[in-house]
Amino acid sequence: MGRLYNFSAGPSALPLSVLKIAQSELLNWQGQGASVMEVSHRSPAFVEFANNVKANLRRLLAIPDNYQVLFFQGGASTQFSMLPLNLMGSATSVNYVNTGVWSQKAIKAAGRYGCVNTCAGLVESTGLLSIPPVASWQIDSEAAYLHYTDNETISGIAFDGIPDGINMPLVADMSSSILSEPLDVSRFGVIYAGAQKNMGIAGLTMVVVRDDLLGIANQMTPDLYNYQLMAAGDSMLNTPSTFAWYMTGKLLDWLSEQGGVEAISQINQQKAQLLYDYIDNSNFYSNKVSPKNRSKMNVVFDLGDSTLNDAFLEQAKTAGLINLKGHRSRGGMRASLYNAIPKSAVLVLINYMKEFELNLA
Ligand SMILES: *Cc1c(COP(=O)(O)O)cnc(C)c1O
Repeated sequence: MGRLYNFSAGPSALPLSVLKIAQSELLNWQGQGASVMEVSHRSPAFVEFANNVKANLRRLLAIPDNYQVLFFQGGASTQFSMLPLNLMGSATSVNYVNTGVWSQKAIKAAGRYGCVNTCAGLVESTGLLSIPPVASWQIDSEAAYLHYTDNETISGIAFDGIPDGINMPLVADMSSSILSEPLDVSRFGVIYAGAQKNMGIAGLTMVVVRDDLLGIANQMTPDLYNYQLMAAGDSMLNTPSTFAWYMTGKLLDWLSEQGGVEAISQINQQKAQLLYDYIDNSNFYSNKVSPKNRSKMNVVFDLGDSTLNDAFLEQAKTAGLINLKGHRSRGGMRASLYNAIPKSAVLVLINYMKEFELNLA
């Protein structure tokens, strides 16, 4: 039906079955005689659906009762400003780990509201990039929180686990790793993620916030950006992005059918391993991230000869593989292997990479 193997970093590929359900319900949702885009967000049908989405997210991520699940518009980028507005309280500083482009954007935004202590950055040793151990971080103990980007979508660098021994609320941007593996939510103050990578489409952003962090928002915080007010208003202070909320619901149903986060994480592990193993064993393709910090969601790689990049991408498209071009700030290639990408797509990609290399000889 003309659909190609899509390795887009975001908005990313959706499972075909989810798109088909959306298609089949498009004209008449739940017997309402109208699409889900055309009914009130206050209608009983939509309110019930929305509450189920939250409940399913709670179940899939095992979110404890002392956390609120909120949905915002504005993308993950708007959270870069909402976090300091909501969480700084009477503190004057915040800690940020800088692991790449998304960290840097978060740092820049936070700098408008307080003093940002960049407590750690990437280190390079024997040509490989890695995230240094927490023991070496220069943490400001008076700061309101410590923020990190769990998975740097652009450079393919990820944390291998939750940083240990941080004695302040831990805040994580999980836009490109949420729901890809089990997560101990109780370790966090706030987790946030835009939906369009691993939990739906653009227009919805999830914020999971611990109850004790509500109520300290800066007075200048707009109501629609205020975590406490949004929690009290069930994330419906104004018209939410209803279709995006609906798509997240369908995606979470799909994830449950796959066996949930634990099951999908094993497949994700296999997918990434297959591709990294192939790259490591090749004399033509390379990846410069230390194995422990390699992203399972965004596999970034370079060709031995970058003048062949355009040919690689063009022939990939002919072979039915799209969106492999690395981010413009980095160049090279990137294959995003989010939950919706089946193992078979990774095998097709590896096969294409092999053939491309063979044809050079
Ligand atoms: C995509 C992405 C963002 C930005 O998301 P928007 O919804 O476009 O604002 C932020 N952080 C990470 C890690 C991302 O991958």
